Amino acid sequence: MIETRSAGATWSGNHQYRATEVRLPTGIDELAEVVASAAHLRVQATRHTFNDVADSEGALVSLEKMPTRVDVSGDRVRVEGLVTFAQLAPVLEAEGRALHNLGSLPHISVAGATATGTHGSGVRNGNLSSAVTGVELMDADGRTHRIDEDHPWFGAAALSVGALGVVTAVELRTEPTYAVSQQAYTGVAWADIAADPIAVLGGSRSVSIFTTWGDPAHDLVWAKSDTGAPSWVEELGGTAVGDDIHLGRIRTVDNTTPRGTAGPWHTRLPHFRADAPPSDGDEIQSEYFVPLASAAEALAAVREIAPDFAAHLLVTELRTVAADRLWLSPAYERDVLAIHFTWRNDTAGVLSVLPRIEAALAPFDARPHWGKAFTMPGERILATLPRGRDFDAVAREADPRGVFRNAFLQRVFGG
Ligand SMILES: Cc1cc2nc3c(=O)[nH]c(=O)nc-3n(C[C@H](O)[C@H](O)[C@H](O)COP(=O)(O)OP(=O)(O)OC[C@H]3O[C@@H](n4cnc5c(N)ncnc54)[C@H](O)[C@@H]3O)c2cc1C
Repeated sequence: MIETRSAGATWSGNHQYRATEVRLPTGIDELAEVVASAAHLRVQATRHTFNDVADSEGALVSLEKMPTRVDVSGDRVRVEGLVTFAQLAPVLEAEGRALHNLGSLPHISVAGATATGTHGSGVRNGNLSSAVTGVELMDADGRTHRIDEDHPWFGAAALSVGALGVVTAVELRTEPTYAVSQQAYTGVAWADIAADPIAVLGGSRSVSIFTTWGDPAHDLVWAKSDTGAPSWVEELGGTAVGDDIHLGRIRTVDNTTPRGTAGPWHTRLPHFRADAPPSDGDEIQSEYFVPLASAAEALAAVREIAPDFAAHLLVTELRTVAADRLWLSPAYERDVLAIHFTWRNDTAGVLSVLPRIEAALAPFDARPHWGKAFTMPGERILATLPRGRDFDAVAREADPRGVFRNAFLQRVFGG
């Protein structure tokens, strides 16, 4: 008898899953039984999304009771089951290996993060999906297939928003371990950021700019360097902040990674520590990606309408993501500026301001983050993704019964 539990809600509680239950297989045979007998099914991982991408008109399945396994070999790591970056990173570090980047938190699963194109920052760093070199996928009949980089479906499978089937294992590219030193600075004038955002965002291996689009006290440059302290920010007028760090209107309380000293990559690249709750918690997030070459113009366009959304905003974070070749990637064939918004947890209020931001960013062909709140119609998103229709064709071929099709995918792709 396969155990079940209730579907619950997303991490911040902004979306209550409509699915009837979460099924909890304990091994690959039980997983195959769950999948093959389902009319509609989606995978629920660590629930850190802000929309219904992980929801299902039928049931959900979680891999939380399945065995996990991490195999490090040469410049690859194979991760099986529900493994988080917090679990994976120390294993890699012990083998002298590292990932090229991490998101702002290590609490999320490898399969769930790579499914949505989750990213950190860095003009030379692709998103986490861009490190994928192979995917093991269970189809709706319960059969497992391996899709490597030379497979014609790879561009769809490495960032699949869960549409192709259950990812039972992911293989990622690794590199030799490295140390990172980070510091956060106030005092950099917005005028200097706005005049040349690429220079600021490209100053270190990974740079984030936090802002509330008006109050200079909230403008913060958080730089993570693999070549010593990022003291170049001081030349721009930056002053290192003390222990008490404010991210816009979010006051972090003993949950950020150490600043001012060097440490292994995984202890510095995320903003938030694995042993504490990240961010604010009572929030909704949205994010849009525009060509990096248009960064200055896109920032000016958002700043102009900022008074319209100011009442809902906790903080904006600006980051960069290097181009990749994954069909649904927000960085598909273009280096991008990521314009992120952490909102107060008021769904109606957030949904009322998103169309205004999406209209302001439309001239820049903005693409949304698949795991965050957006209101752009599917047609408009697909117009920015040249391989979007090819993705849909592969998803329909991989899942002819439409088991993994949900309301989210129907809104984006139709049918
Ligand atoms: C506090 C906070 C900070 C964040 N910071 C960042 C950030 O820095 N950068 C960024 O880009 N995003 C960020 N996000 C968003 C988040 O990381 C992503 O949306 C990510 O996809 C969540 O992964 P998850 O493991 O929680 O997956 P879930 O939310 O559980 O699922 C995400 C999607 O992946 C699918 N999926 C999961 N596992 C599988 C599997 N095994 N097989 C098939 N499909 C699967 C699900 O069906 C769903 O469609 C943040 C979110 C929070 C709450």
